Amino acid sequence: MTRSFNFCAGPAALPTEVLEQAQQEMLDYQGSGMSIMEMSHRGKMVVDISETAKQDLKDLLSVSDDYEIIYMQGGATAQFSMIPLNLLGKNNKADFVNTGIWSQKAIQEASRYADVSIAATTESSGFTRAPEQGEINVRDDAVYLHYTPNETIGGVEFSYIPESPVPLVADMSSNILSRPLDVSRYGLIYAGAQKNIGPSGLVWVIVRKDLLDQAMETTPSIMSYALTAKNASMLNTPPSFSVYMCGLVFKWLKTQGGVAAMGEINERKAARLYNFIDQSEFFANPVAKDSRSLMNVPFTLRNSDLDKQFLAEAEAVGLRNLAGHRSVGGMRASIYNAVPERAVDALIQFMADFEKQHG
Ligand code: PMP
Repeated sequence: MTRSFNFCAGPAALPTEVLEQAQQEMLDYQGSGMSIMEMSHRGKMVVDISETAKQDLKDLLSVSDDYEIIYMQGGATAQFSMIPLNLLGKNNKADFVNTGIWSQKAIQEASRYADVSIAATTESSGFTRAPEQGEINVRDDAVYLHYTPNETIGGVEFSYIPESPVPLVADMSSNILSRPLDVSRYGLIYAGAQKNIGPSGLVWVIVRKDLLDQAMETTPSIMSYALTAKNASMLNTPPSFSVYMCGLVFKWLKTQGGVAAMGEINERKAARLYNFIDQSEFFANPVAKDSRSLMNVPFTLRNSDLDKQFLAEAEAVGLRNLAGHRSVGGMRASIYNAVPERAVDALIQFMADFEKQHG
């Protein structure tokens, strides 16, 4: 068996140990004689898997009892509408920071329900940086301020948590669990699972309990945070197998030393790749240094005619999924938690060789 070095932005690399454990437990989960996919979600085994996964996420991010941890379906995209539905029942003002494609998608969907105001935008820089605190203007009577701490496509990550006079809502799909986080600064955090957590389709939501009583009356029950929390995320049949996979990743993270250890490794991986790109005259990264993502590293070749060859040769040596997002082109290496340091070293070596041949 050969595992590729997988730089996909999502669904992304999962830890090999996690996949192996899932494989071992596939046909006979803990002596039950069946797979998790075949079990009732009301049974003790699935309930335990679900509760343990929530507790492990709570431990990993030191989430206080002021918050509910729930999981839902529809990916992070479904949250673009669930957030306004659940929070704008009393007043419909929502403010947004626009740092690129994912913030724009959130803004667009919220605009169907909300009186939206753009608190800050970095459009004039071509979305190559995060705004400074002083650039963010939030209405005092907004219900929340939404931002995207890590723009997966642009490779732009905030190096700080914005101060906000109103609850802060964050789309952490592509950087949750990549380093320590002060959850207490947030009203709501959400993250699609398929980058640092598990299989696609599932989204984790960490929501402050005092925000659970302001949903619009028309919010569908299955989209209600309050009802989902009250029903332990099992208002209907949950995606049990995906929850189980997330749980295995949480356990794996704990054995790796948690988010503090992950943060150090991620800093090292990103620094090595950015340093290489910066000293090269052949490769370039457009993002301001203080806004560079630890997780998603976009880069271009000086001569874009060589893009296809670069990708083909990379694939041939097992460095996979390096093409940039279809909307922007170029290259992108996503180096999430489960992408090992040696994958980054192999990529750098390959890039150096490619530059020697073509530079
Ligand atoms: N937000 C961000 C920051 C993302 O990177 C993505 C997926 N790439 C999404 C939202 C959408 O996630 P999903 O496909 O799970 O709806």
